[in-house]
Amino acid sequence: MRTDLLIGGEWRAGARRYCLTNPATEETLAEVGEAGEAEIDAAVRAARACFEAKEWRELSARRRGALLFRLADLLEERSQEIAEVETRNNGKPLFESKIDVAMAVETFRYYGGWADKLTGDTLPVSGNFFTYTLREPVGVVGAIVPWNFPLNLAAWKVAPALAAGCTVVLKPAHETPLTALLLGELALAAGFPAGALNVVPGPGPTAGAALVRHPLVDKIAFTGSTEVGQWIMREAAGTLKRVTLELGGKSPNIIFADADLAAAVRGAQSGIFYGKGEVCAAGSRLLVEQSVHDQVVSELAQRAKKLVPGDPFDKNTRLGAIVSKQQQEKVLSYIAAGEQAGARLVAGGKAAKVNGKGYFVEATVFDGAQPGMKIVDEEIFGPVLSVLTFAGEEEGIELANRSMYGLAAGIWTKDVQRAHRVARAIKAGTVWVNTYNFYDPAAPFGGYKFSGFGRDLGKEALKNYTEVKTVWVGL
Ligand code: NAD
Repeated sequence: MRTDLLIGGEWRAGARRYCLTNPATEETLAEVGEAGEAEIDAAVRAARACFEAKEWRELSARRRGALLFRLADLLEERSQEIAEVETRNNGKPLFESKIDVAMAVETFRYYGGWADKLTGDTLPVSGNFFTYTLREPVGVVGAIVPWNFPLNLAAWKVAPALAAGCTVVLKPAHETPLTALLLGELALAAGFPAGALNVVPGPGPTAGAALVRHPLVDKIAFTGSTEVGQWIMREAAGTLKRVTLELGGKSPNIIFADADLAAAVRGAQSGIFYGKGEVCAAGSRLLVEQSVHDQVVSELAQRAKKLVPGDPFDKNTRLGAIVSKQQQEKVLSYIAAGEQAGARLVAGGKAAKVNGKGYFVEATVFDGAQPGMKIVDEEIFGPVLSVLTFAGEEEGIELANRSMYGLAAGIWTKDVQRAHRVARAIKAGTVWVNTYNFYDPAAPFGGYKFSGFGRDLGKEALKNYTEVKTVWVGL
């Protein structure tokens, strides 16, 4: 596969090259070109030139949609290979990478369908006028994505942006640029004009920052940490860019005593351990109603102990490698902080190796966690669950909302009235009832509070990539 930068339809050398490591084997995986400020500038200019070019502006919306369908087909044809690349780069089990690629394919198809269905309105204004709105592309989009779902989160931004008629400069995370480069390769093969999608791997503080500051970028679509999101929002003020921010989370997964407990325990397990817990919506705070606490914790601990880290290419593996040594150390430091604060470790807690190598962490469960502890208040982004206890619905809701974040939440109950009541009371962008961690291109996803604003996916996301123009015609 290509490992240079995709700028204006050509593969160009970066400012330098750097090495990627397979986090499961610690072997060198690939050497990739890195964008400096000059390459970011070139990519933005290529995107701008394409946006202004006749062949892009005059491309019919239906034809744009057809290009997105073609890109989805090409992704699907190479899905096995792309999933393998993702697993080598990120460390996640192969079966998860296959789900990621399938979701990316669906996302391109979903927005391919939207391309020719974006319409304005005719407006019933007073007076003798014909007044209507046009929905126009916002322009050049800088898409900045993290390392946990490298292809999928890129698709969540690139697909609606292209469908709306924008052009894109995609900056993948420094750790995981490979599937973004493959996406660029396939966009060219699908027939997108040069500069419609540019892919520029590089470090956040240099390449990412240059994209945020560039005066020819109209909008930044960002997924990543709250801290970087705050910086981007401040910095984007200089050029008054449109910004959408999909940020961190510390999502509550609430088990009421009347729930189907077997299903709730399975949901709690997959809610935190899917994706090694490197999932923005991970159900990392498990709130359990007092009367079922002991049963839930004991079943969960048993399941967590059986969930041993394994070779991501083994079809039975359900817990892969942490993305990098640095992230592994961060997760372990949170585990140490949990023990120090007096939470009780009931499963896991240690680093692990598979075949003597890799940055793995055991599936870890803390009982007796309390607000005020770092493991309860802060996003760990690893396979670490904190269990808290509550008495009654009111306290459950209060505890669930006691967080700076508001990305997602889970509710487990058989009481249909309670389910809807609590769903309404929770301050989060997504609430799952008797299920957890499901996504679909049609379902908007994003945060309340410090989890950001703007929505990825669904028809909502198209608003991020369009401007509304009102036209008044005197009759
Ligand atoms: P991060 O914020 O460190 O990096 C995200 C991206 O921003 C990367 O591409 C990085 O290179 C870039 N970046 C870093 N500093 C930058 C700067 N100064 N200017 C411009 N770009 C910069 O996050 P991460 O560690 O890669 O990912 C984990 C975080 O992402 C977690 O907080 C997680 O919750 C969040 N996340 C959120 C969602 C969501 O939809 N809300 C989804 C996945 C991950």
